[in-house]
Amino acid sequence: MIAVTKTFPAEDVVRLAELSVVEIGENRDQEAAPKVTEVARLGATVRWHFVGQLQRNKTRSVAGYAEMVHSVDSVRLAGALGAGALGRDRLLQVLVQVSVDGDPTRGGVGAGDVLRVAEAVAGERMLRLAGVMAVAPLTWSPRAAYERLMEIAGGLRADHPAATVVSAGMSGDLDAAVACGATHLRIGAALLGNRPPLG
Ligand SMILES: *Cc1c(COP(=O)(O)O)cnc(C)c1O
Repeated sequence: MIAVTKTFPAEDVVRLAELSVVEIGENRDQEAAPKVTEVARLGATVRWHFVGQLQRNKTRSVAGYAEMVHSVDSVRLAGALGAGALGRDRLLQVLVQVSVDGDPTRGGVGAGDVLRVAEAVAGERMLRLAGVMAVAPLTWSPRAAYERLMEIAGGLRADHPAATVVSAGMSGDLDAAVACGATHLRIGAALLGNRPPLG
């Protein structure tokens, strides 16, 4: 379980760490980068996951703190993140974000392009291809979406057996994700409370 702490302060990350919840997710570098610094200053050690849409001009910053990046959805982004990781001398675990319905607006690559992006990740010296991630489309049942994601994950493992991570499931659909075999859940509101609407 990854606790997604976006909109919540560094102090809440420290509280989670005191409860041994040390896998922490953020979705925007602008918010995450200062929070990472603040959490370290407060003396807590956690592992950061970057779960949001990633812009290429933020890859160097994210490579400086993330252990795992869940949201690589293009060959160009894989290249930029690979360069960032090399520049920071940090080895990153990387998931290919999949759009299970093929609609790219929420991020993610269509099923037919997963392998191409995965090969680009695998070709970067400081990136390790760890698996796939998806957000369930609003128009699909979570069960159908995550079953489809599991199929895509299985297809990828045929070529990349070490890519065993399936990051699926948020507060509203974590039961379906667990039932389908997700290995990683990204939970925000159900742990931390409702977020204020984004301004
Ligand atoms: C915010 C966020 C989550 C957590 O969502 P909740 O509904 O609060 O559990 C999971 N994944 C991503 C990509 C997010 O941006």
